[in-house]
Amino acid sequence: QGTLMQGKKGLVMGVANDRSIAWGIAQAVAAQGGEMAFTYQGEALGKRVKPLAESIGASLVLPCDVTDEAALDELFATLEREWGKLDFVVHAIGWADKQFLRGRYVDTPREAFLTALDISCYSFTAVAQRASALMKDGGSLLTLSYLGAERVMPHYNVMGVAKAALEASVRYMAADLGRDGIRVNGISAGPIKTLAASGIGDFRYILKWNQYNAPLERNVGLEEVGGAGLYMLSDLSSGVTGEIHHVDCGYNIVGMKNPTAPDI
Ligand code: NAD
Repeated sequence: QGTLMQGKKGLVMGVANDRSIAWGIAQAVAAQGGEMAFTYQGEALGKRVKPLAESIGASLVLPCDVTDEAALDELFATLEREWGKLDFVVHAIGWADKQFLRGRYVDTPREAFLTALDISCYSFTAVAQRASALMKDGGSLLTLSYLGAERVMPHYNVMGVAKAALEASVRYMAADLGRDGIRVNGISAGPIKTLAASGIGDFRYILKWNQYNAPLERNVGLEEVGGAGLYMLSDLSSGVTGEIHHVDCGYNIVGMKNPTAPDI
């Protein structure tokens, strides 16, 4: 047991099960003595999240659908009442109607666009508004992105546009909140088989493609994103804000297919 996060209290949003990226980060934080509250979306997921949270000694496990302003207000009122302060937030939430995570981006209807941007981008801003008010000693806000924000990835479509907006919001909020000692960063993770990823068309192909073409010639693991998350949330990264940090076995630097990779 390390002590990097000793005395720090944080909110972790986006655990659905033990394969969730948020859970990978939470385990790394727990191993360093951090105290966490967890949120879940809906009672069905709550049944999975509660035992996970209890397994690392978390006492606060609260419902919160991020599209619901009243639910967000209630969540942060509870945190203020229980803790009176907050040191870090993990926002690992994204959603788009999977009907539009295949085919052409150009065919995305307005409703599907607005919902994807609301849940996958605006929710981080809505959380930051409330969390920053509780970060009296400064703090660290962290979100999760994907390379589809920067480059065109097959099937990622409206999620790519939402992640581009999310990454821009990281930079704007870093500038807004820096004077309060609050840092805002993102981790751009390589593909990992999670519940959210299962909505993306041909996800197995994407995993294989990354495995064969990334410099490290494999896919990234949950514990590796967890380690990077721990860095961003702890004082180890005290000089870092507005950053999108790739944790993808180096895939983002590659310009062409690896000529020695087998066919998929
Ligand atoms: P996941 O399915 O485990 O987590 C997604 C979470 O979003 C779930 O807990 C779900 O309940 C939550 N969510 C969706 N809509 C919500 C709403 N309205 N209110 C509250 N919560 C809501 O999948 P994951 O892959 O761990 O996803 C976490 C983050 O990581 C997402 O932002 C995702 O885009 C990002 N990401 C994932 C990958 C990957 O390959 N899995 C790669 C890069 C980035």
